[in-house]
Amino acid sequence: MEEENLLVPNIQNNEEERSEFSLRPKTLNEYIGQNKVKENMKVYIEAAKKRGEPLDHVLLYGPPGLGKTTLANIIAMEMNSNIRITSGPAIEKPGDLAALLTNLSPNDVLFIDEIHRLNRSVEEILYPALEDYNLDIIIGKGPSARSIRLDLPKFTLVGATTRAGSLTTPLRDRFGIVSRLELYSDEQLKTIVKRSAEILNIKIDETGALEIAKRSRGTPRIANRLLKRVRDYALVLSDGNITKDIADIALQKLEIDQMGLDNIDRKILESIIINYAGGPVGIETLASTIGEEVETIEDVYEPYLMQKGFIGRTPRGRVVLPKAYEHLNMQQ
Ligand code: ADP
Repeated sequence: MEEENLLVPNIQNNEEERSEFSLRPKTLNEYIGQNKVKENMKVYIEAAKKRGEPLDHVLLYGPPGLGKTTLANIIAMEMNSNIRITSGPAIEKPGDLAALLTNLSPNDVLFIDEIHRLNRSVEEILYPALEDYNLDIIIGKGPSARSIRLDLPKFTLVGATTRAGSLTTPLRDRFGIVSRLELYSDEQLKTIVKRSAEILNIKIDETGALEIAKRSRGTPRIANRLLKRVRDYALVLSDGNITKDIADIALQKLEIDQMGLDNIDRKILESIIINYAGGPVGIETLASTIGEEVETIEDVYEPYLMQKGFIGRTPRGRVVLPKAYEHLNMQQ
């Protein structure tokens, strides 16, 4: 069996997808945290409904597992609309997008995950669709080819990306609402853990929930994943109740330390300290030293290491900060 990577949130299996579905909040009120985004979204949704129009196109960005897909579903639900779900890499040709767009009904939400990975020719079809609800398609080949313009129903595009910087300017400019999701606080994650435990019928006390929350690197998907793993330990090691002690033992066995760092986080920090005297070191060099993709380091690992004050970015590359030396018990 392949070993599961507990921290990389974008690796999913079917069982997890099913349980994510049941754990997903269905309304804005159930959606925990992200208060600024939520408040704004409430206003935009209410205003759009009062005008009797679809919501403006929405771009959601932030690290994986923070609730972008969940929020897209909630937006559709709050607008009383249907949602169609796809992703950038799944739309290979302009024709694939044309088929999707022409099958939409008025007010539908089209959710495109990893929208930064749309290919250029597909993206170009999207511009007039977003701006004027028009679709230009070419019929025929060679000299007899002609372009026809189709009217599309008014719809809302919700795009999600882990890297807003990779979006082209023309695409980015066509979103009326751009919201950045932030890493969650320990308290917010604790609430999420307690909510998930209730849904999954897991017994957990306040201290146990807080311990899992603190070690979930600000990410709800990781919190839910750790909750399920800790539950297994609680069943085997004691009566099934998750307490702080049980959570601590389980997370140690999973090699997730007090701050929520895993082996790869530690490898990143140690590599900069040992091989590059604490930095600065370029991200490409660092990635090849530890054998990870640049994108994985930037999207999955770095946001949390930066938030905790372990790593800093300088124009010449990444540097390890004093807090990391302290945490790893290493000399500066
Ligand atoms: P993303 O699309 O950003 O990768 P998802 O929307 O798939 O993240 O969220 C991953 C899981 O985390 C969801 O199944 C859901 O259970 C949980 N989750 C995300 N955001 C929240 C939230 N604000 N409140 C409660 N649970 C959340």
